[in-house]
Amino acid sequence: MIQRTIQTVEAQAQLDDWKSLLKASRISTADLLRRLNLDEHPLAYADAEKQFELRVPRPYLEKIESGQPNDPLLLQVLPQKREMLEVDGYSNDPLDEEKFSPLPGLIHKYKSRVLLIATQSCAVHCRYCFRRNFPYNEHRVARNDWQNAIEYINENPEINEVILSGGDPLVLTNEHLSELLNQIVAIKHVTRIRLHSRLISTLPQRVDAGFISLLSSLNTNVVMVMHCNHPNEIGQDVADATQKLKHAGVVLLNQSVLLKNINDNASILARLSEALFNIGVLPYYLFTLDKVHGAAHFDIATSTYLEIYRELQGLLPGYLVPRLASEIPDRTSKTLVNT
Ligand code: SF4
Repeated sequence: MIQRTIQTVEAQAQLDDWKSLLKASRISTADLLRRLNLDEHPLAYADAEKQFELRVPRPYLEKIESGQPNDPLLLQVLPQKREMLEVDGYSNDPLDEEKFSPLPGLIHKYKSRVLLIATQSCAVHCRYCFRRNFPYNEHRVARNDWQNAIEYINENPEINEVILSGGDPLVLTNEHLSELLNQIVAIKHVTRIRLHSRLISTLPQRVDAGFISLLSSLNTNVVMVMHCNHPNEIGQDVADATQKLKHAGVVLLNQSVLLKNINDNASILARLSEALFNIGVLPYYLFTLDKVHGAAHFDIATSTYLEIYRELQGLLPGYLVPRLASEIPDRTSKTLVNT
């Protein structure tokens, strides 16, 4: 009996290791529905996986309500037939990022900031992702190629902030991150590092002791921008992760995307802001959808989101209202939506 208990504990520890959870995040539509006790789903379309494979890490999956086809977390990851539609105004590269890429893996769109695509992988595949069709293979920054990016940043003294994105930079191991971050920190004119990660809310086990010790050892300001769209994504595991990051001195912000049938409701957005504040995270941006091919069914009419946002402003103190913004190609900053 004792032996079996030890084995069970060991098996659970193994399952909770973030690398094992990451590896196991690739599942099929049929498996996803089976695990949620759904015999079928009126919107599910497994063939959409061929365009953008399905990935759902267990900690996120466990927050989806079993047997509930309209669960807002499920609808963010479920492959649907509507992704195959060609819709006017939607493209593969809605932000025209290719144009701002001086070398593979680097996007220099805003004067003082540069974005490094540190990896092409993610733990979760969000069906609305604006980089779902991005040619990652052409922009793959292999470990040995980081040197070119570091040299570019070195030669451009106007860059004071380096943003690690992807994919999701936290799928890299602590060793790889340490190598990259320490090279960035060594550049004198870089005074801030920002990490954009959806793993904090979808695979919070990633915030392990090694990662915290790495962040604590960096002699610079570190900002972590979480991507969380619905209050149901925030559980005790996420709160534990943000607590550790806070203790390491990391500034915690969140950005969300306005998504039809998921968070297009002022009271849901207000609950999200409150839940974020309770775990030490400030709402930062609320983005309108980037018009990427395959995501048109998530879009909301302008008049509708303006109404939602005005209502949201009435429900929250100003510091908990995220800035409503759009990304418009060619603009030198995010565009705040005039409400
Ligand atoms: S985690 Fe971010 S980059 Fe990855 S699929 Fe989701 S939105 Fe896209």
